[in-house]
Amino acid sequence: MKVIIAGGGIGGLTAALYLHKHGVSCQVFEKVPEILQLGVGITMLPHAIRAMNELGLMERLDELGVRTDRMIFRTRGGQEVWNAPRGLAAGYDVPQITAHRADIHQVLLDAVTERLPAGALTLDAAFEAVEDTGEGVHVTLRRGDGTTFTAEGDVLIGADGIHSAVRRLLNPDEGAPRWSGLMLWRGALDWPKVLDGHTIINSGGIGRKFIFYPIGPGKTPGTQLMNWACVVRQAEPGAPAPGREDWNREAQAEVLHPILADFDVPETDIRAMVDATPVFWDFPMCDRDPLKTWTRGRVTLLGDAAHPMYPFGANGSAQAILDARALGRLCGAGGDPAAILQAYEAERLGPVNEVVAGNRTGGPERVIDEVEARIAHMPGQRFSDLETILPFKERDAIVNGYSRLAGFATEQVR
Ligand SMILES: Cc1cc2nc3c(=O)[nH]c(=O)nc-3n(C[C@H](O)[C@H](O)[C@H](O)COP(=O)(O)OP(=O)(O)OC[C@H]3O[C@@H](n4cnc5c(N)ncnc54)[C@H](O)[C@@H]3O)c2cc1C
Repeated sequence: MKVIIAGGGIGGLTAALYLHKHGVSCQVFEKVPEILQLGVGITMLPHAIRAMNELGLMERLDELGVRTDRMIFRTRGGQEVWNAPRGLAAGYDVPQITAHRADIHQVLLDAVTERLPAGALTLDAAFEAVEDTGEGVHVTLRRGDGTTFTAEGDVLIGADGIHSAVRRLLNPDEGAPRWSGLMLWRGALDWPKVLDGHTIINSGGIGRKFIFYPIGPGKTPGTQLMNWACVVRQAEPGAPAPGREDWNREAQAEVLHPILADFDVPETDIRAMVDATPVFWDFPMCDRDPLKTWTRGRVTLLGDAAHPMYPFGANGSAQAILDARALGRLCGAGGDPAAILQAYEAERLGPVNEVVAGNRTGGPERVIDEVEARIAHMPGQRFSDLETILPFKERDAIVNGYSRLAGFATEQVR
């Protein structure tokens, strides 16, 4: 069996590594002519790290990134809503790691280059069309200079991201991604270590949020590469997005100043953090309505192409990695190619669509929204006894209920 993968992002490359591990030949075609160091921080939750461990890549990620030992959720006014251990400290067998997207991507790229035969990854090759003959797929790819070439395989996997051309071909009437009405700003910079240097601090509910966590060592002693993200509601869900969802659109600090003044973060000066960030980006936070099927004949989707989701709950890359893991295992077991894709979809589509839906209401961070809604009428929007506002049992149901939904509760990962 030979698998053609359109898209060499985190999902496409992980799929290539899993297919190779299971003895299945594959070829990845990536649109960009050169892999650039793009993006900022990504949280790799224990289910994603377990997969990286299976692929023999956990140690490299561990060297590059930072282990998360604790996660703190607070109201915008600085009152603690949830404070819990993560990763090894929470009893998992593997750590939770935060790292720069470019580092994660590079680890995968290096492994593909080392393990797969030469020519397994072709850059400057944008997927354009596929013909499913019933016996195989003929795939047309276009180079940046306008010329085209073809590739032959048994199946095609569209791992080509939120603007997937493969998905568009399968769903021509779908249109653009759906804007949540939320704008996301994100950046990273060298910054003095906060607390023990292994903590994620997340303040504010879905409509106004600031989150920061370290993703690597800093350049000077006492510093870390600190990732931050700010989310603000600008419109109702489904409103037309202010521009295309481009991961690389630069933003200006002035826009954020009045927003940052709303937050009380005792550990550090978040306005100074944003002002010191040399360059950062905005991104209209989008997803797509879940599909009823990803598969037609010998063509299917994986990762953001199949299920783009809001980043609440940090599951975008993790779910792409789980797709890749399932696909590799099922292809490795052999059988009729179209039936394998159906089995892959049957295993993954239902659970992932639930994560997409869960993220629309804020994922685990919804616990902050619940508290903020219940104290909105109180003086200074502050509570004196959290238990009377939202008892532990209900907070636990939101946060750990999400972990179970997304497949990374401790008992699911062991
Ligand atoms: C440049 C970039 C920066 C990002 N930054 C962040 C970030 O800071 N934080 C965050 O949480 N998430 C970020 N993401 C998204 C995150 O990587 C994904 O949500 C997650 O890893 C799922 O990965 P994926 O492989 O499904 O999609 P992606 O990582 O989006 O990868 C899709 C790949 O397909 C390629 N492609 C697109 N069209 C075609 C085509 N027609 N033919 C062939 N290849 C094609 C793209 O160039 C890309 O390499 C970023 C994605 C990109 C592409």
